[in-house]
Amino acid sequence: MIIVLKKVAINNIKELLNFLESKKFEVNFLEENKVLYLKGELDELDLNQLKAFDAVEEVVVLDTPYYQVLRKCQKENTIIKVKDAVFGSGLEIIAGPCSVESKEQIDRIAKSLKFMGIKALRGGAYKPRTSPYTFQGLGEEALKYLKAVGDKYNLAIVSEIVSEDDLDLFIKYVDIIQVGTRNMQNYALLKKLGKIKKPILLKRGFASTVEEWLLAAEYLLSLGNREVILCERGIRSVANGSKATLDLNVIPHLKKISHLPVIVDPSHGTGFSEYVEPMSLAAVAAGADGLLIEVHHDPKTALSDGVQTLCIERFAQLLKKVKSLKEHLEEND
Ligand code: PEP
Ligand code: MN
Repeated sequence: MIIVLKKVAINNIKELLNFLESKKFEVNFLEENKVLYLKGELDELDLNQLKAFDAVEEVVVLDTPYYQVLRKCQKENTIIKVKDAVFGSGLEIIAGPCSVESKEQIDRIAKSLKFMGIKALRGGAYKPRTSPYTFQGLGEEALKYLKAVGDKYNLAIVSEIVSEDDLDLFIKYVDIIQVGTRNMQNYALLKKLGKIKKPILLKRGFASTVEEWLLAAEYLLSLGNREVILCERGIRSVANGSKATLDLNVIPHLKKISHLPVIVDPSHGTGFSEYVEPMSLAAVAAGADGLLIEVHHDPKTALSDGVQTLCIERFAQLLKKVKSLKEHLEEND
């Protein structure tokens, strides 16, 4: 439930807070202290009694378990700026290899991407692999290489965190911290990330509902970190012929109900490089604020996810088509 406050003397606010405290409500101030967000047993409250307090302008009983992620709470789009990259206004593209494999590999890919005008580079350092026998990532060494190329080419660095134990390293080396599909509901991790000042790229759990996804984002916002980018990366369903079902319906839906930027990852969402371009175009047509695409200078030698990874040349073609589609959509808006 939320209570919109009137502009009144501090004593009137205190009187209301004392009352809510006596009813065992947890109270959070939002929107520059103009709104109170209450957690507790609603049955304990007589709404008419509440409206009688001088400090109360309006009482709204919410029909969702989340609030801060919604447009009801914030009308304007959240815009996140990291180096030259901007999320939530226009189209931003994050590209890079699934895994950082060596200093030379990441430098080579970063240089090509920078040349194409890409502003955000993603590379995995800690890989959450389904099998313990596959490449697990170079760890801190990879984060150092990423930081070096981020500084050299002025690219915003994105990398996935898999354990709260690594948080200090991510604060030091990374500009945008990715929470992968397997950790979307790792609440201990979300609570730590909610207290830091770094944008979070929150992927959708592969079996998560929109409500569960938005609640995961709400964890971050409710703890003070409002810079959250939502990333649709495909869910498990009955479809076969691709690795996952890319839920593109979710883009217009989230853009309507939430102020957070929404991007799409067609690499993990399809699992095959030849499907990445058509689904990128579909995502842009559906209103995505950005894309996350796996790119490698030689996908067949990639240490992870090579099958879904584009080579530099194919990524350049995709970029051209995506940009011209975006321009066409804007001209006809
Ligand atoms: C990745 O981005 O390389 C990754 C493992 O993604 P996801 O969490 O979507 O599977
Ligand atoms: Mn990958």
